[in-house]
Amino acid sequence: MKSAKESADDVMARLYEQARAVIPGGVDSPVRAFRAVGGTPIFIDGASGARIRDAAGREYVDYLGSWGPMIVGHCHPRVVAALRDQAGRGTSFGTPTELETELARRVCGRVPRCDKVRFVSSGTEATMSAIRLARGATGRDGVVKVEGCYHGHVDSLLVRAGSGVMTLSIPGTPGVPTALAGLTRVVPFNDVDAVRETLAASRGEIACLILEPIAGNMGVVPPRSGYLEALREITREHGVVLIFDEVMTGFRVHPGGAQTLFGVTPDLSCFGKVIGGGLPVGAYGGRADLMDRVAPDGPVYQAGTLSGNPLAMRAGIETLDLLAAPGVYERLEESSARLAAGLEKAAAAAGVTASLNRVGSMLTSFFAAGPVTDFASASRSDTARYARFFHGMLERGVHLAPSQFEAAFVSTAHSEAEIDATLAAASAALADL
Ligand SMILES: *Cc1c(COP(=O)(O)O)cnc(C)c1O
Repeated sequence: MKSAKESADDVMARLYEQARAVIPGGVDSPVRAFRAVGGTPIFIDGASGARIRDAAGREYVDYLGSWGPMIVGHCHPRVVAALRDQAGRGTSFGTPTELETELARRVCGRVPRCDKVRFVSSGTEATMSAIRLARGATGRDGVVKVEGCYHGHVDSLLVRAGSGVMTLSIPGTPGVPTALAGLTRVVPFNDVDAVRETLAASRGEIACLILEPIAGNMGVVPPRSGYLEALREITREHGVVLIFDEVMTGFRVHPGGAQTLFGVTPDLSCFGKVIGGGLPVGAYGGRADLMDRVAPDGPVYQAGTLSGNPLAMRAGIETLDLLAAPGVYERLEESSARLAAGLEKAAAAAGVTASLNRVGSMLTSFFAAGPVTDFASASRSDTARYARFFHGMLERGVHLAPSQFEAAFVSTAHSEAEIDATLAAASAALADL
């Protein structure tokens, strides 16, 4: 006899097989394929608030949050109403709309010294365009990136670092020209000396330094005290454009992003995820003298047929307005802190070695002895153990990211009861490891 669970698994297996016949790996973004945790990806049918439902009708408390955008939860009534309204007015015009100005005002109003912002359709486009602008403004080609930071699938950023700071970079994927990858230098996260040495050695070649001010794509790794301040100083000395990639942290860790939380102002910032409220939006912005070099005011070309898309702008505006209500970030902080404390307690009770990093509503519990401060220490995590934990949580109705090196995202829709249920599931799943 088939159990209900078996038949649900059969549904997933069938959907996955059908997808694989027509889509490479059955997915439109590789990490969705569960390669890091094994098993069959779950196909999602719908979601509401903090909950997500798969195509077999099973429900989960969701901490993936579409990898970050869903900070007000899924299907917030105000976001849904705005989208329905806009669908009736028109979904794309290829002309300016007031909606773009409205969202831009909100961004520039919250992020100090972001004078102007240009909307694009993804985080990748935002970082790619910011780097182009930095190169155009400085007349230099070199880029310094930080190990473990992810900035989308931009060609010149898909490089694997050698062990030494000065090692010439080689492409991390076929399809990226060696010549392009060779323009990128990679330094470890939280390492000021490496940046100082790299910029001193390649004087006059480096256009920009790009990093996540709080790393989220090797799991959550906060900057050491003084790190961002030092980067600000060194880049200024060398005339290097400092780019904060706040695609994940923007409007999540603070209304004004990580740069406001830490009080360090970059030259350019990249946004995405939360800014689109679950629709495809990215943005790059910063000082007017730099942004005025973007076409049509300036010579640095960058364009997009669907950029500033009206549906996406409406979702972004509603989301940012919901986040502007009093006490929102305080409540996010409270529920995230409760979740983090509960997870640490559960791991200790189960005798599982874990190290929890959290900034606001983004957190990662590394299966490693801490502290996790950079890519090397994150890499020491027991990923096989994470895979077992991930599946243990999924079986108990909790949806996490299918990789150790990702953040869990808490939304304003996560109730105390849902967090308690998550902690009960975690205690059981950890005890089972
Ligand atoms: C998600 C992410 C990106 C890429 O955004 P896409 O919309 O997936 O292209 C870039 N930078 C950071 C920090 C991200 O978290």
